[in-house]
Amino acid sequence: MKKITGVEILDSKIKEKLSTRNIYEILNNFIIPLITKEEQEFLVELEDFLLKEVEPKIDLTKDVYELFPILGKKNYIQRLNKYGDLDEYGMRYEILLAMAISIIDPELDLARVVSGVIFSNPLFQYGNNDHILEILDEVMSGKKIGCICITEKKHGSDAVNMKTKIDDYNKDYLVLNGEKVYTTNGSIADYYVVYGVSNIADPRGTMSQIIVEKEFEGVETHRLGIQSIPRVEVGQIIFKDVKIPKENILGGKGQGYKNLFSGLVAERDAIIGSSLGISWLTAITALIYTNFREQFSQPIYNFQAVSFPITKLFTELMAVTDFGIRTATEYEKTLKYPDETKFIKYNAAFSSGTKFLASNLAYRISYETQQLCGGIAFTDNLKIDKALEVSKVQEIIGGARNIQLYLVSKAIKEIVARVVK
Ligand SMILES: Cc1cc2nc3c(=O)[nH]c(=O)nc-3n(C[C@H](O)[C@H](O)[C@H](O)COP(=O)(O)OP(=O)(O)OC[C@H]3O[C@@H](n4cnc5c(N)ncnc54)[C@H](O)[C@@H]3O)c2cc1C
Repeated sequence: MKKITGVEILDSKIKEKLSTRNIYEILNNFIIPLITKEEQEFLVELEDFLLKEVEPKIDLTKDVYELFPILGKKNYIQRLNKYGDLDEYGMRYEILLAMAISIIDPELDLARVVSGVIFSNPLFQYGNNDHILEILDEVMSGKKIGCICITEKKHGSDAVNMKTKIDDYNKDYLVLNGEKVYTTNGSIADYYVVYGVSNIADPRGTMSQIIVEKEFEGVETHRLGIQSIPRVEVGQIIFKDVKIPKENILGGKGQGYKNLFSGLVAERDAIIGSSLGISWLTAITALIYTNFREQFSQPIYNFQAVSFPITKLFTELMAVTDFGIRTATEYEKTLKYPDETKFIKYNAAFSSGTKFLASNLAYRISYETQQLCGGIAFTDNLKIDKALEVSKVQEIIGGARNIQLYLVSKAIKEIVARVVK
């Protein structure tokens, strides 16, 4: 795929002011009051690392995957699950990680979240043998890449009724047949978490969750032409009579269905972090740019037609950020009290509602700030256009907008049915 980069036409004085260091410092003003002292220290150290070790190596003509091992060195492939001897882990840390990486490179964070959280979380949760732990080590180092295969050509939102088959439970291995599409990282990944059923008439009762390896015979991958994220590979994955050793099962018949649904909450929460990062990136970029860009002999921020829409977006963003961090706290609560179904149900609906708000806001902020900053925001001199494209993808992955609304509408209807007799 052709990756376009162009010349620099941004005023050099404004460019200096738009440094990522300044963007992080403005972000910290809004975030620090919402997080603990330990989280603040984590965030500041992370930002420093990204500025020194990652930003200089970003090349918009190359895929993002070369940057993974740099993140891996400091255990920044994910922070949802405890890995190694670090104490800074959990959904709140993961959201901070996603925000900070999205600000430096939104495409990098999209690919990282898929490998580090959406692929790896089931391995952390259900992996119970040495082989799976080895796979986790490889993926956490950033040297190997993971992806998740749920969506099929004919089953997107209606994912449960998938047609991919996983058979032969009575042999030493399982046999996998089917086709998955839109798999982020899929055409470059080393490992795939795959869902399939042994009886398509009973997906809930027979769904399994397994790990497939690139080297297994019968695995075929092709890259899709997703033009909005040229540095991230999105693939079609075909499985033809692939033999799966039993040590690669994460969830057997029926358990796969439960794992799929409990995993979706973590998936949505991680995407919230990336969407917040994109929103802060474009909002702060616009705030700085419009304060120094002059037209009619004054900064364009002096025109209320520019400053008021930016301010309105900031107020929405402050609210959704508070919500996003709250969603992460709720997620941690569900892990602490796994038997409290009321927490779990509340959190599932809350995460859907917040994912809807955050990803939609990321798109609106990027779109509006592009118009408010003018032509420069359509070039690669600013990160707004790149962020806008990634925000579109974030709104559809992890379940399209309507599916998030559907989940919230179902949950609030249940409350009415329970309370109003
Ligand atoms: C770039 C990209 C990356 C992706 N990465 C992954 C990945 O890594 N792994 C993976 O498994 N999937 C991935 N997906 C797939 C993504 O999750 C699906 O695209 C999404 O679930 C929607 O499915 P669909 O595209 O088949 O659309 P459809 O399900 O056909 O939906 C089309 C429209 O109909 C609406 N709709 C459908 N059903 C209902 C309903 N009951 N009520 C109201 N509206 C409804 C939807 O909201 C949507 O607006 C990715 C998609 C893209 C585009």
